Amino acid sequence: MKKNPCGFNVLHNAKLNKGSAFSEAERDQYGLRGLLPAGATTQVIQIQRALENMRRKAYDIERYIFLFALQGRNERLFYQLLIEHINELMPIIYTPTVGLACQQFAHIFREPRGFYITPDDRGRMHEILCNWPEKDVRMIVITDGQRILGLGDLGANGMGIPIGKLALYTAGAGIHPEQCLPVMLDVGTNNQELRDDPLYLGIKKPRLTGAAYHELVEEFVGTVQDIFPKAVIQFEDFLTPNAYALLNTYRDRVCCFNDDIQGTAAMVLAGIYSSIRISGHKFPDLRIMFLGAGSAATGMADLIQRALCNTGMNNDEAVQRLWFVDENGLVVKSRKELAEHILPYTKDQPAMSFVEAIKLFKPQILIGATGVQGTFTEEVIRLMAEINERPAIFALSNPSSHTECTAQQAYDWTDGRVIFASGSPSEDVSFQGKTFHPGQGNNAYIFPGVGLGAIACETSRITEEMFLAAAATLANMVQPAHLEQGVIYPPLEDIRAISLAIACAVAEKAYEQNLAQKPAPKDVSKSGLQESIAKLMYDPSY
Ligand code: NAD
Repeated sequence: MKKNPCGFNVLHNAKLNKGSAFSEAERDQYGLRGLLPAGATTQVIQIQRALENMRRKAYDIERYIFLFALQGRNERLFYQLLIEHINELMPIIYTPTVGLACQQFAHIFREPRGFYITPDDRGRMHEILCNWPEKDVRMIVITDGQRILGLGDLGANGMGIPIGKLALYTAGAGIHPEQCLPVMLDVGTNNQELRDDPLYLGIKKPRLTGAAYHELVEEFVGTVQDIFPKAVIQFEDFLTPNAYALLNTYRDRVCCFNDDIQGTAAMVLAGIYSSIRISGHKFPDLRIMFLGAGSAATGMADLIQRALCNTGMNNDEAVQRLWFVDENGLVVKSRKELAEHILPYTKDQPAMSFVEAIKLFKPQILIGATGVQGTFTEEVIRLMAEINERPAIFALSNPSSHTECTAQQAYDWTDGRVIFASGSPSEDVSFQGKTFHPGQGNNAYIFPGVGLGAIACETSRITEEMFLAAAATLANMVQPAHLEQGVIYPPLEDIRAISLAIACAVAEKAYEQNLAQKPAPKDVSKSGLQESIAKLMYDPSY
């Protein structure tokens, strides 16, 4: 009789499978003899093979499919590959390729991943959530798919975002895959094209709205508190009014945050801190202009305002440093029908265009969060270069096809003087014989570390002070050598070290604010905390 009748199942269990890397002893132990080629190999060789296979594909979307198929076959190999080749693979599993993957989600669908909630689940969420096989969920990313990157309403196709983001929580911060739960709140879609697509996998009805929508979210959040009481909930890619409504409803009640609002804000604040090390400006002297007045932009402004207030300014003085422009020009008090979240930033000025506002306000920093390609025109960027010796331009909209301007344009139109960051990765830029490596203002610098810190100390809330600490920590990791090349974020290859440092800063804040529910480690020094958090980090190597 076979010693281990589950041998074949081991190969088909992504968590256990090591494929050709099972050792001779393991082959005996698990009853794998004959089920594998004879030559036992190593994870290092498997990574080489996986890379070779992936690189052979002609399109990034094929690489995306390949990588997630690998995750379904051999989870540890997938994560080790991701950790070792984060620069190459992040643009595939996350922006920009994930945008295309979401658009085509129903067409490239292979096997279900993550958890789907629909309005029909109202009243029995507890029973349904218990279907999830893991019992110690710590990190939940939930979207309703209504504002996927800058691509709009993609309905249930938006599931690619929580899946991709949680892969980055694991690769970037070592949050164990078993503790991660991607959730799609499928409340329908107003995207007619999707509803007409016979392959579409979501609910083919207009979106649920109003009280019924909020009751469904409420039941979900409440059930999570019952079943997974230590879980952090990250709201992701909700349309601005819902994004703010959910954040404001839950931020003081449960452990949650909105990455588009708060994570982006911390990433941008870190970039601003770094940029002034190049430009020589003092932080309290900054004038910052935003193009786009959605939740991403006002989230940044809210955090920058706090940071300004921490330098000794009052609220009003800080708000005067932050100007907003949208497709109707400067956001001024006389404008009607402005959303509530932008009201604190309206200016007592006459109506004026974007260019007129730049001439009047003379910002040193311009931040784009419009979702609209080409909105930083040549005129705008040349004007920024006329006003500033080293203009800082953040063109943050994702994916690349929606960016406000390209890196090449920013360098060309400023005679190479720009301090530039984009939302999606940029190609290297050559300008007058010099090559620049533009930085990516990627939330992935922030959210994995925030999640890890929150989980490590079991904080009951995630506060703005934690995001301020995360921003300062990230900025501190930028070395003078990076700044000399005009790069304002540290290398992505260092993501694990960055996430660990941010996790420590977040946990420290949680202990300081009496929000941590887990006793502090015996050694409360910085290195003691760091050591205890590092021990929690998932290591997929074998
Ligand atoms: P949103 O739709 O709520 O906001 C978009 C804003 O842009 C609105 O105020 C709208 O009026 C304005 N706008 C639209 N067209 C414009 C134009 N032609 N000129 C000027 N303003 C215009 O969306 P959001 O949630 O605030 O996100 C905006 C963008 O930010 C998205 O494209 C998203 O990809 C990007 N974003 C990037 C990151 C990152 O990490 N890089 C993070 C979050 C959001």
